[in-house]
Amino acid sequence: MSRIRIFMPCEEASQVCDKVQYKEASLWEKIKLNLHVVLCMSCRKHTKVNTKLSECIKKSNIDCLDPKCKEVMKKTLDKALKNYQS
Ligand SMILES: [Zn+2]
Repeated sequence: MSRIRIFMPCEEASQVCDKVQYKEASLWEKIKLNLHVVLCMSCRKHTKVNTKLSECIKKSNIDCLDPKCKEVMKKTLDKALKNYQS
């Protein structure tokens, strides 16, 4: 899996955000969305102005509270950060 596939574009992040609100997003999409906001400075700044994305992240976290899911998210994040920094 390449860095580009893990790190979705900002446009896709906002699309996945809409999917989360309609409960159409897959677990992997939610993980990637969370990852995106962690790694993407502009989206993080954007969430301070427009709360849509942050609301969406909250929702995706609420849907994703079981320990197995958190584990997957953490591993994916660790991997993505390593790719991002190398
Ligand atoms: Zn972004």
